Amino acid sequence: MVAVVVKAIRIDRLGGPEVLSPADVPTPSPQAGEALVRQSAAGVNFIDVYLRTGLYKRDLPFVVGAEGAGVVEAVGEGVTELKAGDRVAYAQTPNLGGYAEANAVPARQLVPIPDGIDDRTACAVMLQGMTAHYLATDTFPLRAGHIALVHAAAGGVGGILVQLAKARGATVIATVGTEEKAALARGFGADHVINYADGDFAAAVRAIVGEHAVDVAYDSVGKETWERSLSLLRPRGLLALFGNSSGPVPGIEPARLASGGSLFLTRPTLGNYIATREELLGRARDLFEAVIGGKLHVRVGATYPLAEAAQSHRDLEARKTTGKLLLIP
Ligand code: NDP
Repeated sequence: MVAVVVKAIRIDRLGGPEVLSPADVPTPSPQAGEALVRQSAAGVNFIDVYLRTGLYKRDLPFVVGAEGAGVVEAVGEGVTELKAGDRVAYAQTPNLGGYAEANAVPARQLVPIPDGIDDRTACAVMLQGMTAHYLATDTFPLRAGHIALVHAAAGGVGGILVQLAKARGATVIATVGTEEKAALARGFGADHVINYADGDFAAAVRAIVGEHAVDVAYDSVGKETWERSLSLLRPRGLLALFGNSSGPVPGIEPARLASGGSLFLTRPTLGNYIATREELLGRARDLFEAVIGGKLHVRVGATYPLAEAAQSHRDLEARKTTGKLLLIP
């Protein structure tokens, strides 16, 4: 028997973390092609902050959250590959709804969780792990000899990206905001770790590898870092600008790319890299296998009761967090 209401974090107006208020909402009803997932964990991601503040647009009200894991409770019409009782995880459904006890998710976006992976780890690997995976394998396919710059290297995406880049043989220069985060980045395998609190990170990078030596800069910090990331690239290097944690980047003149040395700039998003079922399952499988094989450590930095979602956002925006943040319904 499916409960009539579920606890959820609904946003009725845009604003600060205080708009993340707990509410009883009708239990989502799985439509054709969807499955109802009873969630044991919901992921907190920086994109949730952008949606809460209105940087990324969404009609109000909505239940925030693009990631979760749990057990299938019911399936909608036409769903044949899943059944009640299956353990599943997902990232980035178009209809969000993740900060809740239950969510109706398109079945094509649900990934079966293999034995040997618990729900919380599965949830932690979905959005940030698949992002790190596409960045390292497809946006700029790393290999031995490459020098990669990874900002926010103790964060959710950053910590996994450092490990995947190392596994592919690249030299990794990591940046972080505190000494505690520096120790974590070293533990993930970064070859060089720079604390931006110590001064200009670009000067520190030049001191390590020289002028214009970086093959790819993975930059999720955005406004505060993108220009210096660009300045460090070798001719025909790539700036993968994949986030705005410090604020959005203003318009970039194409001539900047020419004068920097025929540089490439991309602004990728996960949706385009898990657009097919095959690609989604392939990325998830690679990550799950790496976790089971002990080659990838997915760090859950903090868990919060669902009702304390606002605190998770406060901590994330204040740069107090490391690794993955999970809400526990
Ligand atoms: P993180 O765990 O990386 O948290 C953000 C980190 O960014 C902070 O801990 C902090 O680390 C750093 N940071 C630097 N400046 C600021 C600032 N002014 N305010 C807040 N944080 C700052 O978050 P996620 O792993 O969830 O996401 C990382 C980034 O990747 C986000 O920008 C997100 O939007 C992006 N992303 C993009 C995707 C895509 O496909 N394009 C998909 C998933 C995430 P430190 O103190 O070490 O500087």
